[in-house]
Amino acid sequence: MRKYGKMKATKKALLQVICNKCGKDLEVKDGSVREGCVRIEYPFDYFSEKDGYIYEFDLCEKCFDLWIGEFKYPAKIHDMKEYM
Ligand SMILES: [Zn+2]
Repeated sequence: MRKYGKMKATKKALLQVICNKCGKDLEVKDGSVREGCVRIEYPFDYFSEKDGYIYEFDLCEKCFDLWIGEFKYPAKIHDMKEYM
């Protein structure tokens, strides 16, 4: 869940990010989140029962870890150095 304030003309400044699962108020400085945060914005399509709806939420790193810890098969984790 994110709150924005006014910035110059058309841009919005990020003011606050709250983890949708636990309610933790994440550190935001100069319009950027300064700690682990997973932003999900997913539009479901025709083949879903949620067709036409966009789900949007933020998770702190702890809640993300708890979420993926429930997976039957672990998430693949790549070292970002592979892409440099
Ligand atoms: Zn959380």
